[in-house]
Amino acid sequence: MTPMSSKQNRIAAIITAGGQGVRIGGTVPKQFLHIAGRPILEHTLDNFRKTGLVDQVILVVPESEVETVRKNYVHFGDWLTQVVAGGKERQDSVGNGLAVLDESIEIVAVHDGVRPFITTEMIQQSIKAAREQGGAICAIPVSDTLKRADANGNVRETVDRNGLWRMQTPQTFRRTLLDEAFRQARADDYYGTDEGMLVERLGHPVKLVPGSEFNIKITRPEDLQLGERSAGCGQDHVKETK
Ligand code: C5P
Repeated sequence: MTPMSSKQNRIAAIITAGGQGVRIGGTVPKQFLHIAGRPILEHTLDNFRKTGLVDQVILVVPESEVETVRKNYVHFGDWLTQVVAGGKERQDSVGNGLAVLDESIEIVAVHDGVRPFITTEMIQQSIKAAREQGGAICAIPVSDTLKRADANGNVRETVDRNGLWRMQTPQTFRRTLLDEAFRQARADDYYGTDEGMLVERLGHPVKLVPGSEFNIKITRPEDLQLGERSAGCGQDHVKETK
């Protein structure tokens, strides 16, 4: 597929799959578990590839998996530009990906390898908003009532959900902005739970663009079941993968 961006305006994705992710059970990191007969990570990569929007992909995997993934994922060709080893925290893994980005990259979409149900529309909208405003995150508004609990599991208070959103990925940024955010975080030894936090502390606005309830992060065993059901229900993001 021909990438839509010009040589001067190139787009990369950093796909984070560097976690051990065995909370889900078993010994295989969750990104390599299967949905609809294929590893979750391959669904994710396919859904990025089919957009035709992304010029290069840096895939971050556990150090022990780098060689195997390089061998097993050759069918992605040059588009999968590099497979690099992850770090201790997710932020370290993203940093390792950023470190090997090609000079020509202007926009970077960071995406969790374990969110296989990402759609072209979400990727497209986050790229568009990142071009216009510097940073964009796919998110959904909180619809459940929120309560804070004490250590015993008793309700302490109800939290006003007005204006609260749940962050997903992709989180997409101008490369210069993301580089600066990571530089500053390293200098301050600061760790956030997403890239957005690093950019926000520079005082730079970050736009929220529509995510989806389908864009789940495979975390618990029931997420795997949900994934299989989505595949069974003919969610096109799963069905269209080969
Ligand atoms: O652990 P969590 O579910 O938040 O991880 C989100 C994504 O970040 C996963 O795809 C995981 O493999 C990746 N990750 C990483 N490096 C780490 C920890 C998590 O790339 N050190």
